[in-house]
Order: sequence, then C-alpha cells, then structure tokens
Amino acid sequence: MIFTPEHEALRQTVRAFVEREINPHVDAWEKAGRFPIHALFRQAGELGLLGISKPEQFGGMGLDYSYSVVAAEEFGRIHCGGIPMAIGVQTDMCTPALARFGSDSLREEFLRPAISGEQVGCIGVSEVGAGSDVAGLKTHARKDGDDYVINGSKMWITNSPSADFICLLANTSDDKPHINKSLIMVPMNSPGISLSAPLDKLGMRSSETAQVFFDDVRVPQRNRIGHEGAGFMMQMLQFQEERLFGAANMLKGLEHCIDSTIEYCRERQTFGTRLIDNQVIHFRLAELQTEIECLRALVYQATEQYVRGQDVTRLASMAKLKAGRLGREVSDSCLQYWGGMGFMWDNPVARAYRDVRLVSIGGGADEIMLGIICKLMGILPGKKKP
Ligand SMILES: Cc1cc2nc3c(=O)[nH]c(=O)nc-3n(C[C@H](O)[C@H](O)[C@H](O)COP(=O)(O)OP(=O)(O)OC[C@H]3O[C@@H](n4cnc5c(N)ncnc54)[C@H](O)[C@@H]3O)c2cc1C
Repeated sequence: MIFTPEHEALRQTVRAFVEREINPHVDAWEKAGRFPIHALFRQAGELGLLGISKPEQFGGMGLDYSYSVVAAEEFGRIHCGGIPMAIGVQTDMCTPALARFGSDSLREEFLRPAISGEQVGCIGVSEVGAGSDVAGLKTHARKDGDDYVINGSKMWITNSPSADFICLLANTSDDKPHINKSLIMVPMNSPGISLSAPLDKLGMRSSETAQVFFDDVRVPQRNRIGHEGAGFMMQMLQFQEERLFGAANMLKGLEHCIDSTIEYCRERQTFGTRLIDNQVIHFRLAELQTEIECLRALVYQATEQYVRGQDVTRLASMAKLKAGRLGREVSDSCLQYWGGMGFMWDNPVARAYRDVRLVSIGGGADEIMLGIICKLMGILPGKKKP
C-alpha cells in the first residue's frame, strides 16, 4: 500500500489525540470499568475520526478505506484494548451497513450523529444461544401495521450501557435462516428495552458490555436497512470491516508490548548480565516483531483489495485469525520475560495479555475464521472451491 502525505497527516492527528486525550486517563478508566464515551466520541467526531470513510453527505470525510485502516492502526497506540474496541464498534461495526445500504432519512437520523460523535452506537448480533452460529439467532421483529414489534435479547453488547442506538440483526420472517433476517436501527431509549448490569470481564475493562432485552419494542419499518431478508448478507459484509479494523488495531499495541519488554529486559539483571543479552530472549522478540510485520503486510494487502472493490472475505478472515493468534503469542512471551512483574494486574503487558484474548473469540472465533478460509479453499467435504 502506498501512503500519501494525507495518510501521514491522519496518522499524526490520531496519534496526537491518543497521546493527549486518552492515554493519560487510561489507567483510571480501566479501574473505573468505563470511560466518558460521549465526551470522548464528541472530541473524536470534531476531528473527523468517526467518519473517515463515510459519505461526506452525512458529515464523513469520504476517504477510501485505507485511511480507516491507518486510523485503526494508530488507535492501537491506546494503552488498553477496551477504548479502541468501543471506537471500532462505532466506526466499523455498527455503521458500515447503514452507510452503504441505509435510506437517506435513516442515515440522516443515525449516521450523521454517529459520525459527529453526538450519538453512541452498538451492534446487536450475538445472543445467549447464538454467537458463532449467527444464522441461529432467535430475536424477532414481527410486522404490525407500519411498525416492527421486537422481542428477544442480545448478549455481550459492547457500548450498550451508554448507547443511543443499536444496529440490530433480527428475524423478520420464518423463511430459511440466511434469508429471514434484517438489520434494523433501534433507538436505545425505546420503551421495552432494558439492560443487564455491566458484565464483569477478564479484559477490555474500560469498555462496557451488557445484555440487552427487547420486550415488545416498537420501531417503524422504515428503520430497516435495505431490503427485508438481506440482513444476514449485509452483516457478513459488515464483518469484513470489523475484521480489518480488529487486525489493523492490533499492530501497534503488540509492538508496544515488545518495546516495553525490551526496555524492561535492558534494565533487569540476572546472573550478572542484562536479561536482554540472553540470545533466547532477543531472538524471540525479533521473531515476534517479524510476525507482526507479516500481519501488517496481510492487513495492507487485504485493504488494497477492499479499496479496489474486491471481496476480501478470505484475506480479512486470515488477518483476523492471525491477529488473534499472534496477539496471544506476543503478549504471552513478553509477559514471561517480565517474570513476577508480568503477573501483576497493573502491568501493561498483563493488561495486553487479558485484552487480546478476546480477539480470538469476538467477531467470529478463530475456528469460525478457519471454517470460512476452508470453504473458500474448497476443502470442506462435498464443497467445491467457489
Ligand atoms: C467482551 C465481548 C464483547 C463482545 N461484543 C459484541 C458486540 O458488541 N456485539 C455482538 O453482537 N457480539 C459481541 N460479542 C460476542 C462475540 O462475537 C461472541 O462471543 C463470539 O462470536 C463467540 O460466540 P459465543 O461466545 O456464543 O461462543 P460459541 O458460539 O458458543 O463458541 C464457543 C467456542 O467454540 C468454538 N467453536 C464454535 N463453533 C465452532 C465450530 N463450528 N467448529 C469448531 N469450533 C467452534 C470456538 O472456539 C468458540 O470460541 C462480544 C463478546 C465479548 C466476550
């Protein structure tokens, strides 16, 4: 991918925003289990960072997706995973389908305030009984006059305790599972919506997650994105941006793990020498840095193809798979070299160890990525290469 001075300027903007407005507060926000999402999103919105590749007509910058990837990479400098994840939900998980397939009035109502940061969004796909198996979800929206009446619940919903809207995947007919779903924009203050207490997570501590319940929630049918029954397909497309964001977002954080480990191992002495002078340690760190560069190359290649309008399901799934696996490897190896210090809750590498664990689970687990890759390689029993 060839970067222009405009890409570099965007990098600098995100970097300055992260260093000035976010990193000084991360420790406190991680402890509190939340961060001031509305205030921070308004600041990000003023800088244009929530609508980089969204249409200018609705307040976005109208740039191609390579700029979003550059921003995702720079948001990886945030010293925790929870805040970049919350930003990614807003920019690359709950708004891509709306921006691409939503009617003008729906985009005016939900996309414009999401881009400006006035409203916080969340994405409702997973349920207690349907995480990996998206097609098996049970929440349904039945037609009643001009409205949908929604019943069911969504599990693990990032940003939901502060969200103004949810982009909801629900069954809108009794047809086959891949053609009976629609994406519907639902204001979170609609009567009949309630939330569980925030879920107590292993990592991503500053990001709020809850279960969302729908009890006869009424929204106009015009809140549906695109055609009825096209929701599953649109969600699969929306996942491409989620997966590219997720993989790009890992790069700087993992490098930070390696850099802080090098620094620590330069200071730490054992048996009369610096830890870093053990070949087993500096070779391992060099190997991991090499792996990160491989992931970066994969992310950039997928992005290039995406910008050209190609289907990147294969490469985005590979990047997501590799990001999850490499995240676990880097954070685990680095933690090891910190010894007992690495086992302390507030250690930066320990935080990364907890946070990156989610990457192999959320947004499609490693095994789901492998299933997609196998399907596209034509190695599933009875299936030909597409
Ligand atoms: C902190 C957090 C935030 C999240 N945020 C959101 C959100 O904002 N919106 C949203 O909709 N969802 C969200 N999720 C849900 C997330 O996407 C799901 O947890 C994920 O898709 C896995 O689903 P599951 O937890 O139901 O696991 P299951 O589907 O029960 O799978 C459990 C494990 O089994 C394995 N597995 C599953 N199927 C197969 C298979 N076919 N072959 C081999 N192995 C398999 C995988 O290892 C998987 O991890 C979030 C989850 C967490 C933990």
